[in-house]
Amino acid sequence: MNLQYMSTRNPKITATASQAVLKGLADDGGLFVPERIPALPVSLGELKGMTYQETAYAVMKEFLTDYTEEELKACIARAYDSKFDTEEIAPIAKVDDTYYLELFHGPTIAFKDMALSILPHLMTTAAKKNGVEGEIVILTATSGDTGKAAMAGFADVEGTRIIVFYPQGGVSRVQELQMVTQKGDNVDVVAIHGNFDNAQSGVKELFGNQELAGKLARKGCQFSSANSINIGRLVPQIVYYVYAYGKLLENGEIEEGEKINITVPTGNFGNILAACYAKHMGLPVGKLICASNENKVLFDFFQTGTYDRNREFMLTTSPSMDILISSNLERLIYQICGRDGKADAELMRQLQTEGRYTITEEMREQLSDFVAGYATEEETAETIREIYERTGYVMDTHTAVAAHVCQAYKADSGDGTKCLVASTASPYKFVKSVLTAIGKEAYSQKEELELLPELERISGVEMPNAIKEILNAKIRHHRECDADKMQETVEEILGIR
Ligand SMILES: *Cc1c(COP(=O)(O)O)cnc(C)c1O
Repeated sequence: MNLQYMSTRNPKITATASQAVLKGLADDGGLFVPERIPALPVSLGELKGMTYQETAYAVMKEFLTDYTEEELKACIARAYDSKFDTEEIAPIAKVDDTYYLELFHGPTIAFKDMALSILPHLMTTAAKKNGVEGEIVILTATSGDTGKAAMAGFADVEGTRIIVFYPQGGVSRVQELQMVTQKGDNVDVVAIHGNFDNAQSGVKELFGNQELAGKLARKGCQFSSANSINIGRLVPQIVYYVYAYGKLLENGEIEEGEKINITVPTGNFGNILAACYAKHMGLPVGKLICASNENKVLFDFFQTGTYDRNREFMLTTSPSMDILISSNLERLIYQICGRDGKADAELMRQLQTEGRYTITEEMREQLSDFVAGYATEEETAETIREIYERTGYVMDTHTAVAAHVCQAYKADSGDGTKCLVASTASPYKFVKSVLTAIGKEAYSQKEELELLPELERISGVEMPNAIKEILNAKIRHHRECDADKMQETVEEILGIR
């Protein structure tokens, strides 16, 4: 029996896994969720000796049930290969008594690679399975990391095109250079005059735009999404939590069955939701600790039961978390309202029209797995500096937000459960903020790229290839547009204007 996926807003809108991967978003604007969370198909003890690829197959086959074994294994083999700079794919660094799960060893040195290196293969396989012959056009909004990882994943993948929108001035120089130098005949990137939420709302509108869909269909094309609303991104992200548990067991760091807490630096709520799904599969996880930066809309939500995006949008040193609308939260809302599509749709309508909604007491009671915290800009910088000075380990700004929240939770709660922190980016990606935090005044005066050798010197970690590549690469993309001109821009790029 195939696992069915349904829209969070209407259980009558269903899809198989491969159809959900192809579509990205359900037709009613809801997100696809599996009808149930499958159990782990292997025992905890068996996880010990498993490679990343074996773990990926064990987890993903339970969710993507209409892919054959051969198809899924081929996707996994093409995704998790020498593009990653370590055979472990996601190694764990133990610093003090905390485990940092380093999710940044892929081609673009941020955790988005964990899912975006496989999504293009899942999608082209899905297209074949479902008899889709025309081109799949990927539209993606990015706060910096998704865009590059998606472009790298889809570049020159036959039958696909990709257009990425990022907020001009809202990403680091390294992130911007990574995107505007991307090779591939099927990739385009556009800087929009606005913030990430403008880009994300714009892309969502384009997906719902029937006129545009019609024009596209006449050319035999259809849209899909590489954003974390696509279950083809969510499912591969469950894998590394299961894998990490196996490695902690294998290394004798934990006992079989021992619970671990997981802290995740959160923006769109995709990564932490994957950890939540891993827990529901049966992985021994205690608390899911949701860490925000100064855009602490999620912290306030867990604190009060009210989600309210009506607030000032802050630009922080952890730009990939500068988000006021956390799309994947809808999947959690759906779960805690008793899988009631109507109730979910009503809350999302309120979010759309009033920018806020409040959940019921009954729903709040079901959030007891979650703890939330946030780090101010000062706390983030202080965490980077303090851990570096004491241990020599250099972490990026996003990871530092999580490290701070994790430490604060331990101190406040007295909870002695061992903690895994999702380390979501290489410090090289945010070199200026990282070095400024470590405290040399002079750093803040320098150009970002000039600082790269200095980071190499102080961290003792060799500059990743992803960085070496952009230093001399040619700038290939110059396009920009106003936030309300995204449709025109897409039509121009696709030649359907
Ligand atoms: C995308 C991103 C995040 C946020 O992840 P979500 O799944 O959107 O919550 C955190 N850190 C980095 C470096 C990212 O790129």
